[in-house]
Amino acid sequence: MPKVNAERLADFVADIFAAIGSSRAEAERIARYLVNANLTGHDSHGVARVPRYVAWKRDGLLIADQTVKRIVDTPVIAILDGQFGFGQTIAPQAVTIGIEKCREHGLSAIGLRHSGHVGRVGEWAEMAAEHGLVSVHFVNVAGSVLVAPFGGIDRRFSTAPVCIGVPRPGGLPVILDFATSLVAEGKVLVASQGGKALPADALVSAEGKASADPRELYGDYDPASGVRDHKQGKGALRAFGDHKGSGLALMCELLGGALTGNGASNPEKRWSQGMFSFYVDPLRIDPEHLFPAEVSRFLSYVKNTKPVDPDAPVLLPGEPEAARRADRIVNGVPLTLETCRALRATARAVNVDDTLLPADA
Ligand code: NAD
Repeated sequence: MPKVNAERLADFVADIFAAIGSSRAEAERIARYLVNANLTGHDSHGVARVPRYVAWKRDGLLIADQTVKRIVDTPVIAILDGQFGFGQTIAPQAVTIGIEKCREHGLSAIGLRHSGHVGRVGEWAEMAAEHGLVSVHFVNVAGSVLVAPFGGIDRRFSTAPVCIGVPRPGGLPVILDFATSLVAEGKVLVASQGGKALPADALVSAEGKASADPRELYGDYDPASGVRDHKQGKGALRAFGDHKGSGLALMCELLGGALTGNGASNPEKRWSQGMFSFYVDPLRIDPEHLFPAEVSRFLSYVKNTKPVDPDAPVLLPGEPEAARRADRIVNGVPLTLETCRALRATARAVNVDDTLLPADA
């Protein structure tokens, strides 16, 4: 698989977004967050998304350089409307407001509606953790119905990710960040582009059979186009963890969707993300400073469990991403040939030089 230097890849992606109407600052921001997702190993939320974002912008579903509108604004609560801006612009604005209110009052709750794709949600928990804050995020997508509830076949939920971040003084934060579907939709996208295959039970067919075939979601797609339409498939993604994951997905829809005003998953609605986030300042609720030492003690206790496989030590949430980042910064970001092909086609269509990416062998 070709590997591309992360900084050069970010410059290339930024050129594409600048060419389709974003300010240079926004174009660089989108590129940085997408490449960051690749660096952490979540290729599903990295540059493979570029063709889809470009198509959404062309179709008027995403608007360049938006600013959140404050619908509700109290000392500890904000409800924000992202006005269909790029998630890479809108989400950090919402997180910044959550951080500011939390730093001031010790606690904040922020509802975001009508945002473009917010990407890897762990990014936002990391941002809060950099300010020493604990954060919890429930995310949904109105207009994207992909996941069957436990025991069902028909789609009812989005892939509705949930994320919790806990800061660690002097160490990497603990970041638990995952889709409530058995795999993120982006992983189906990557598998459909020749990347990592899906688990055998990631999807359910219209007949109720477990499946790993991306066509259950996308129908018969053209592999070269780079764009997949999840409305074409007749099957569904499955929620992880049977009734437990399915219940968590339901709560993401109720909190990230219904409570924010974004709307819970609904095929009639326009595509937009909702995110309901809580921020907590440990310094305010722990004046004795017991939290950092107890976090350290407990994490060591967890890690020191005897591993099932002596060559595979137990990891904390966030550690796989940190390890991949260390590797990919040095060795480059691996891209499937199909991702390269789709990116080259997208770049050429907007008159951006595509020679960074290898031509097909
Ligand atoms: P995943 O299944 O790879 O799980 C990732 C989480 O599990 C991370 O917290 C990671 O640190 C932890 N983890 C992984 N391996 C571990 C191990 N061996 N030991 C301990 N912890 C481990 O994630 P996913 O469900 O494929 O989601 C991938 C990304 O997609 C996430 O960043 C998520 O936010 C994003 N996503 C976004 C949307 C959206 O609508 N914006 C939707 C779905 C998913």
